[in-house]
Amino acid sequence: MTWNTLILGAGAAGMMCAAHAGGRTLVLDHAKAAGEKIRISGGGRCNFTNMYAGPQNFLSANPHFCKSALSRYTQWDFIDLITRHGIAYHEKTLGQLFCDTSAKEIIAMLRAEMDAAHAELWLQTKIVSVAHTGTEFVVEIEKDGLRQTLNAKNLVLATGGKSIPKMGATGLAYDIAHQFGLAVTDTRAGLVPFTFSDGRFTPIAGVAHPVRASANGAQFDEAMLFTHRGLSGPAMLQISSYWQETHSISLNLFPNGDPFEELRTRRQAQGRRNLTTELATLLPSRLVEHLSGIMDLSGNLADQSDSALRSLCDVLQHWELQPSGTEGYRTAEVTLGGIDTNALSSKTMEAKAVPGLYVIGEAVDVTGWLGGFNFQWAWSSGWAAGKAIAGRP
Ligand SMILES: Cc1cc2nc3c(=O)[nH]c(=O)nc-3n(C[C@H](O)[C@H](O)[C@H](O)COP(=O)(O)OP(=O)(O)OC[C@H]3O[C@@H](n4cnc5c(N)ncnc54)[C@H](O)[C@@H]3O)c2cc1C
Repeated sequence: MTWNTLILGAGAAGMMCAAHAGGRTLVLDHAKAAGEKIRISGGGRCNFTNMYAGPQNFLSANPHFCKSALSRYTQWDFIDLITRHGIAYHEKTLGQLFCDTSAKEIIAMLRAEMDAAHAELWLQTKIVSVAHTGTEFVVEIEKDGLRQTLNAKNLVLATGGKSIPKMGATGLAYDIAHQFGLAVTDTRAGLVPFTFSDGRFTPIAGVAHPVRASANGAQFDEAMLFTHRGLSGPAMLQISSYWQETHSISLNLFPNGDPFEELRTRRQAQGRRNLTTELATLLPSRLVEHLSGIMDLSGNLADQSDSALRSLCDVLQHWELQPSGTEGYRTAEVTLGGIDTNALSSKTMEAKAVPGLYVIGEAVDVTGWLGGFNFQWAWSSGWAAGKAIAGRP
């Protein structure tokens, strides 16, 4: 069977690309349903973009690579699309836009856009092999127990990264990239909770607190959550993408300002109160209990000299922690690294050395922060490749 374009992966990027790639486009996926990650994203409401999305919100060996696609298909273009489809949405926080009702609306919208473009979708299809004859791609598949050979002028790799293998994530895009001589940068889990092998936070699991988390020159002001296994919450997921194994992370438990003057004032007015009691008005009491097990918080406020208060405040604003690791691909929202952007055109996503081969979405070495940025990359890169394919003679 001959197609103009075969897209491997019916996720966010693959469906967006299919809606713009022009005639005789077929999307193949081994899953039972398209867009499974969209369905579960944002707690079922899909944080589909971010109002402030820009190149600064992405990690890549080449931070400039994402600029072209992001500027040609922006968050406002996607907002316009969902508005045309009558999907209601709201800003939750920090420019993060979520569906009012359900992430399934986004999937239905993308399917409708694909139908309007007459793109086909074959699910539960195994990709057996991919080859290139010099003029076209030959993809062998297995569907309903039958082997078939498909031919196409264009092949789009949109099978995403390695995160959440239970949901069908595989390294197929990387394998095919290797096959065609495209480099793949080191990959690792991103937007992922930290683990501490000594289980030190188990007693305070469930406690949440806003922090400023820093690692490797990056910092995020968001909430942190103590868990049985370690640390999670938006601040930790964000900083995990910057953290390197064996490095430490630094937590400022007072991101809104140094508590030193406040504690001094209280010492004057209420010197006989316990230091821990006072701290428990500024921090969750279970966290203060935990801290009193690892640092000296004994005595009254009046017992604390200026320099003792100063060093206490310094420690609480620079709490250094060395995680044992992360929860890995099992729970990671994204895969950092991927197909080397040097091998691709930033305008079209086409492999420079293999005309007709395109790579989009999470498979590319472009990873967004938490907050709708990863879907925006999927929309922008999928659109860029789709438009380029539709415009190819
Ligand atoms: C729990 C969770 C929540 C998330 N929430 C958000 C959020 O709210 N906002 C946000 O911006 N980002 C979020 N993300 C990240 C976002 O889902 C991804 O960045 C995005 O889906 C990547 O799009 P993609 O099309 O490149 O890959 P995917 O959406 O992963 O699609 C890849 C497709 O390829 C198919 N596939 C894989 N391997 C094969 C194979 N060997 N053969 C055939 N088909 C294959 C898969 O079945 C899948 O359908 C979340 C991720 C997770 C895991």
